[in-house]
Amino acid sequence: MKVKIEEGCIACGACESFCPDVFKVEDVATVNDANVAANEDSVREAADACPVSVITIEE
Ligand code: SF4
Repeated sequence: MKVKIEEGCIACGACESFCPDVFKVEDVATVNDANVAANEDSVREAADACPVSVITIEE
């Protein structure tokens, strides 16, 4: 799984609250690639929860 944040993140913090091992939100969200494989279910939940749908997942 490859996770990216597209332009348009509003730094709401939802992704970090669903999956803090992968997402960190400062000015915009960033992805810790090293932790994605161990957290795939919560990464999907975070992507579904993003209010502006900027988290993209390639399986
Ligand atoms: S949930 Fe979406 S808008 Fe909110 S901080 Fe994460 S990537 Fe940005």
